[in-house]
Amino acid sequence: MKYCGQCGELLLLNQGNRNRAKMICPNCKWKWYSNPVPIVVVLVSAGKDNIVYVRQNQYPKGVWSLVSGYVNRGESAEAAAVREVREETGLDTKVEKFMGSIVSNNAPDDIYLMFHCKVIDGKLKAGDDADEVKIAPVSIDELVTNSVAEKMVIDFQNELKYTGGV
Ligand SMILES: [Zn+2]
Repeated sequence: MKYCGQCGELLLLNQGNRNRAKMICPNCKWKWYSNPVPIVVVLVSAGKDNIVYVRQNQYPKGVWSLVSGYVNRGESAEAAAVREVREETGLDTKVEKFMGSIVSNNAPDDIYLMFHCKVIDGKLKAGDDADEVKIAPVSIDELVTNSVAEKMVIDFQNELKYTGGV
């Protein structure tokens, strides 16, 4: 955001306290807070020991990820997680667990909300934003190193170890 949303004046950066950077219009005092954008990332478990992977053609060869997407205005994060899974994979799921949130130092404009959802119905089929989808054993082998997806799968693997199954 560079110009005032109200009067069009050039905004000035005001590095406020508590790390809340905001832009202020010197003319009409309109403020713009650079709040982060919430993104849901969803680990979808399908039966015992399998999860759902998605792939876009733009990814490097052999690289897969998990379902992810933006939260719509007026939508809960849980509803966004279930909707994104349906849109990308054709599967109906229910939220099993909120796995926490992550903010990356490299991308402070985004906040990732991590969910574990379980398949309850539907037929696997690549939809919006996914070129390929598959159900395969729980593994980090085809995920990007240090990605949010990788962290989630590692957490999930640890959970499986302690509980002995999904
Ligand atoms: Zn203004």
